Amino acid sequence: MVRETKFYDLLDVSPTANESELKKAYRKKALRLHPDKGGDPELFKEVTHAYEVLSDPDKRSIYDTRGEAGLSEAGGMGGMDPQDLFSQLFGGGGFGGGGFGGGSFFGGGGGSRGGGPRKTKDLVHRVHVTLEDLYKGKTTKLALTRNVICSKCKGKGGKEGATKTCNTCHGRGVKVTLRQMGPMIQQIQSGCDDCGGSGETIAAKDRCTQCKGKKVLPEKKFLEVHIDKGMKGGQTIQFRGESDQSPGAETGDVVIVIEERPHDRFKRQENDLLIDVDIDLLKALAGGDFSIKHLDERALLVKIEPGEVIKHGIFSLVHSLIRVNDLSLGELKVIRGQGMPSQRHHEPGDMYVKINVVFPDSIPLEDIPHLEKALPSRTPVQTFPNNVVVEEVSLHKTDARTAPREHQEDAMDEDAEPRVQCANQ
Ligand SMILES: [Zn+2]
Ligand SMILES: [Zn+2]
Repeated sequence: MVRETKFYDLLDVSPTANESELKKAYRKKALRLHPDKGGDPELFKEVTHAYEVLSDPDKRSIYDTRGEAGLSEAGGMGGMDPQDLFSQLFGGGGFGGGGFGGGSFFGGGGGSRGGGPRKTKDLVHRVHVTLEDLYKGKTTKLALTRNVICSKCKGKGGKEGATKTCNTCHGRGVKVTLRQMGPMIQQIQSGCDDCGGSGETIAAKDRCTQCKGKKVLPEKKFLEVHIDKGMKGGQTIQFRGESDQSPGAETGDVVIVIEERPHDRFKRQENDLLIDVDIDLLKALAGGDFSIKHLDERALLVKIEPGEVIKHGIFSLVHSLIRVNDLSLGELKVIRGQGMPSQRHHEPGDMYVKINVVFPDSIPLEDIPHLEKALPSRTPVQTFPNNVVVEEVSLHKTDARTAPREHQEDAMDEDAEPRVQCANQ
């Protein structure tokens, strides 16, 4: 049973909706509510936020169990820019022929609508960043090549007045050919070869010597990318107007998308970190220290106080809130404030430590009395009424042949057989 249904209601889906139903519902809503289509920007944001939460299995389970309040407790719920999510889902460049035109659906300033200034395509670049770099923050230089307007001809491609309307396409940049297909006549539109689709030509002798009439020249550019402490995979850094220049068009942006590299020791969930630590049985029962190398130049020395017992095989409720990828069970403890820094200058996240107790393979017989003295006494064996025959058996190590799964399949076979016989009788 879910606790709140607000997010489901925003998307008009039932709380049992699956991933594809959610996506479909969001798409439908978002298309209708998008501010570019005259929708209410606040409602669009809310619907997008609802989808962002419900499409993430971890966030959805927090929302289902603890509601919206649970999400803010879990921290880092600022979320992404609705437009980012929207373009991630449906492709950066508009809607794939859905009538929204070119790549600047989100260009701001009305790129594709109503014949406003054309905008050059955003240049999207993914940078793969280690968890260490996201913890400490980092500045990296990015080299890119982009087209800039030729300085010599100022983007005219040649001398003043040298530009002529293309004779082949009459300035339209496209040529239309008609083709007979049975009873139908089909119109085929293709880019004009003679002017390269620009609708203009410049005679060879009048062309700018620097750009050879192309109006733009490639230029190498270095961008300084500041990766802030606590940034997350999927976040973007924008450099406005750093994409290709083109005469008569607004320059698009360079968009850096952060990709978080998986870490070999830590798993990250929002601003929390999760790490697996093995300790020996003596530390688990009698206390002792262990250390965790952090993501910066520190190591944490963790003390298990003597007298406290670290249990093995505990499955705490907290596990369901933390992404536990393997099924090994260890006691989950938390070191407050040692998770990822918060980008919004809130409290940093926490470090969850899953402590796995490593048991010895055997115990020398002469040490057993010490254990008997130290540990609670053995629980008595269950007794049975006289009509129950008690048989003594031994425990063996399991191997591939006797693995529990095989047993299960055997049991199912045995189960199936008598039924077949019944049917034959
Ligand atoms: Zn030029
Ligand atoms: Zn042409």
